[in-house]
Amino acid sequence: MTIQERKAIPIPQVEARKPVPRQNLRVPGPTPVPPEVLEAQAAPMINHRGPEFSAIMKRVTPRLQYFFQTASPVLTYPAAGTGGQECAVVNVFSPGDHVVSIIIGNFGKRLAQIAEAYGLNVSRIEFPWGEAADPAIIETRLKELAPYKGVLITHNETSTGITNDVQALAALVRRLSPDALVVVDAVSSLSSVPLEMDPWDLDVVFTGSQKGWMIPPGIMMIAASERAWQAHKNAKLPRFYWDWTSTRKHLETSWQHPTTPPVSLFYALDVALEMMLAEGREAIFARHVKAGDYVRGRVQAMGLKLLATDLRYASNTVTAIQAPEGIETKALLKKLHDEDQIVLADGQDHMKGKMFRIGHLGYFTEADLQQALDAVERHLKELGYQA
Ligand SMILES: *Cc1c(COP(=O)(O)O)cnc(C)c1O
Repeated sequence: MTIQERKAIPIPQVEARKPVPRQNLRVPGPTPVPPEVLEAQAAPMINHRGPEFSAIMKRVTPRLQYFFQTASPVLTYPAAGTGGQECAVVNVFSPGDHVVSIIIGNFGKRLAQIAEAYGLNVSRIEFPWGEAADPAIIETRLKELAPYKGVLITHNETSTGITNDVQALAALVRRLSPDALVVVDAVSSLSSVPLEMDPWDLDVVFTGSQKGWMIPPGIMMIAASERAWQAHKNAKLPRFYWDWTSTRKHLETSWQHPTTPPVSLFYALDVALEMMLAEGREAIFARHVKAGDYVRGRVQAMGLKLLATDLRYASNTVTAIQAPEGIETKALLKKLHDEDQIVLADGQDHMKGKMFRIGHLGYFTEADLQQALDAVERHLKELGYQA
């Protein structure tokens, strides 16, 4: 076929652009962004190799280290949270390495799948949805599975609304296998609930901008311990975009990135970190504890069942609720969206349609949560639910 014979592509007929009405966005990411942060992003572009961008990185980097509680450099990448999972795996492991993956839901499963996709030998320790990783079971299984190069852990499992006791799990791994790397997916926890990378002796920790950081999706942040940097030197999995050495070199020599960073998102991060410091780390944690308690209290008062089987592990950033008998999640979410501009999240994977999730992380007020829960209560009644 010659070029002349190929069909031209006509101008597409698409739906006209129209503004989205103001929503109460209560999904566990992306989360609402404060007006100051939205405004910051409207500033004109600057050269990402110039002094103005470096000035942002000089402010942002130590502040991220503070929120991570690490003396290690926090590296930033233009990426989704899943990029953090892949970045962690490719930088510290080699083909065929044995790693143990602790899975309590969909995101833990994804991290294991990524490790498998890169040819690691992955042993899975899985728990039913709604449960946290039980340290006693983990201890027994880790002893059976040794030796292993690393253990992959989800801090806050966003698909089930469960927060693992990462501090205890990491201490356990360290006691059983002192050299194993503890890799922690903290995408929906870091900044919102306590996580202390250096004091807890965690080796790789990553998070995503659109969860607790009050900025839009697009920046992934990751840090590695001295132990992980040593492993990185000998790690043989292929890497280029995710290569820590290159990213660290650019950061430390010029406060830049190897490739073009999302400049507007860094304007946003700069302002959001200022706001977070003004509020204070402990105050942010306290606000999330209060939100978790409030949402769980309301849900239980409606006679609904949480997915969490043990309230001690119920997440303070996202609450997962079982759909009542005979009510389809889809119908409830549609009513909330269409009638009230309230957006909640469905279940994932095999729990789609059988549960729903309310995000309460980052930028929110108790009034936002109250409005969402009042509407849930009202619509469930309309759908025939009786407590
Ligand atoms: C959201 C999330 C991810 C994935 O983030 P994306 O930005 O959707 O790729 C991974 N892990 C956890 C725990 C998450 O909450």
